[in-house]
Formats: sequence, C-alpha cells, structure tokens
Amino acid sequence: MEYTLMTRIKIYLLTALIVICVPISSALAANEVNIYSYRQAFLIRPFLDQFTEETGIAVNVVYAKKGILQRLQQEGENTRADLVLTAGFSRLKALKEAGLLQPVSSGPLKENVPKRYRDPENEWFGLTLRSRIIAYSKARVPAGALRRYEDLADPKWKGKICVRTGSHYYNRALVASMVSAHGEAKTEAWVRGLVANFARKPQGNDRAQAKAVFEGVCDIAIMNTYYFGKMKFNKKQPGQREWAASLGIVFPNQGDRGAHVNVSGAGIVKHAKNRENAVHLLEFLSDEFAQKMYAARNYEYPVKDGVGWSDEVKSWGEFKADDLALVELFKLGPTAQRVIDRADWR
Ligand code: FE
Repeated sequence: MEYTLMTRIKIYLLTALIVICVPISSALAANEVNIYSYRQAFLIRPFLDQFTEETGIAVNVVYAKKGILQRLQQEGENTRADLVLTAGFSRLKALKEAGLLQPVSSGPLKENVPKRYRDPENEWFGLTLRSRIIAYSKARVPAGALRRYEDLADPKWKGKICVRTGSHYYNRALVASMVSAHGEAKTEAWVRGLVANFARKPQGNDRAQAKAVFEGVCDIAIMNTYYFGKMKFNKKQPGQREWAASLGIVFPNQGDRGAHVNVSGAGIVKHAKNRENAVHLLEFLSDEFAQKMYAARNYEYPVKDGVGWSDEVKSWGEFKADDLALVELFKLGPTAQRVIDRADWR
C-alpha cells in the first residue's frame, strides 16, 4: 500500500506523539497514589500534603462515608484505588474477608504498628487508637463510683445507663473483649445486667448518649474517647460543648486488664496500580510525623509507641489499654453477637 506524503507525515507525527506521551503518562502514573477514604478531608489532608511535599508523589483522594467495599468489588482489576483508609476497624476485617486487600511486607510497618494492632497476614494496619470509655454526669454521679465495665451491670445503676445498640461494632468489640476476659456465660450475665440498667431503648450514636446524659435522661453512657474531644471543641454545634462539659470520663479496668481500645486503619488494595507509592504512604502514616498529627486532629492516640499525645488527650490522663489483639476481637465477634442477641441488647 502506498501512502500519500500527507498521510506519511500524519503517521510520523502520531508516532512521535505516542513516543513522547507514553513515558509522560507512565511517569505521572508512577508518581501518584490514589486513596479511597472513609476518613474526612480535614483529618487527613494536612499530612497527605506533607507526604507530597517530601516525596513528590501526588495523593488523590475519593472520600466516602460508605460503599467503598462495594465500589472496589464492582471495579475489580480496573480500580484506581491503591490504598483504603477506614474510620473504624470492622471495615478492615470486611475488606480483607472480601479479598480486596493484599499483604505488605514492610520493616517500618512492623516496627511502627504494634503486633496487636495489625493483621497477622499483614493485609491491614491500625493507625490511630481510641478507647471505649464510661462517661458520667458530674452533677449526679460521684467521681470514682464506676471503675470497671463490670460495674455497669450493678443493679444500683438501674434506669441510669444510655448506650447505642449492642450490634454496633464498637459495642460488639467491647463485648468480645469481655468474652475474652470472662468467657461467654459470665459475659452474658453481664450484658443482661447492663440491659436491665438501661434508661431507654438503645438509640442514636455515641454523641446522642452524651446529649441524653446532659439532658438528664440518664446518668451514665459508653462512648469512644474522640467524641468527648469533638464535642468539647465543636464549632459547628456549640451546644455540644455543654454536653461535654457536663461529663466526667473514666478509663475502665485500670487495676486489671485495662480499658478496651479499637483503631482506625488502612490496607493496600489488591489491584493497586501504584503499589510501591501506596506502601511508601502507609509507612509514612505509621511514622512519627503523621502519627502525631493524625491522632491529634481527631482527639485519638497514636498507635506507634513513643509518639507524643496531643495536650488535649493528655489532659484526660494516662491510661492502661487492654492489650488483647484486634484479631482476637474479630474472632470473638460472632460469639459476642450471639450474647448480645440473647441478652436482647437492641
Ligand atoms: Fe466513631
């Protein structure tokens, strides 16, 4: 076949364009990392920007409150996501079980994230820590009246306790930690005692329980630590500051196994196109700089040992955390759920 001169020039130009463009686009692809994040922008953007500044790797984020797991399933091999950031730990388990993550062998991650806060198969890693604490009305409950989760089942608190539903994974994990400490039968007796002390049918989220204590609906609530900080300094809803101001908080079980804790975390997506960058970012998130900032911005605790706490969480006091591994909590989850169902915590 003969080409006209014009056609030959066109082919030549097109070939030249491809030769120039392919390396540019692959160079760009190699210099980015894409996150699907359950965590909000205000929380993560500052240290992601720092990561870009240090490494030249651009970080693109898709924020979503829910549905990331389903989206990853739908996108399959074509997904753009390299890394998933979760706000809670139950999502980490779900992502792994759906086969959407891949293992990472990394010295820094092993060093920075204590074993109990990461997957034994290295598919997910805890990044920030929070405790599930007891909050009480400073006006109506004497300080020191409650010291252990076990105390919540004492009949003297009949009609005094507010808490969200038992099946929420925050509570399921707490019950799982009780099953680990006491066995199934004793834990069921505890849950029954707790349920018998409810001021009302479980409803709302953790903050709704704080509001109920403030309003006098109940005297005692169970909540994650960071909500206390988020209420105390709430700019959008200043009313929440009053809720927090009315509360005293207790880190339970300081004389024995320690207060129950859970994590937010991350994992590398199975079909990540920028795996190396994603590992690099995950390592950065587990290291001193990001750990400090990440924890402080949401009133959480760093998972990495030795990283300083923010002044605010420091003011709540040092505490001993239950050192039960997250993977054990996951294993005991179904037992905990059965206990919750039988004891009718709903
Ligand atoms: Fe939460």
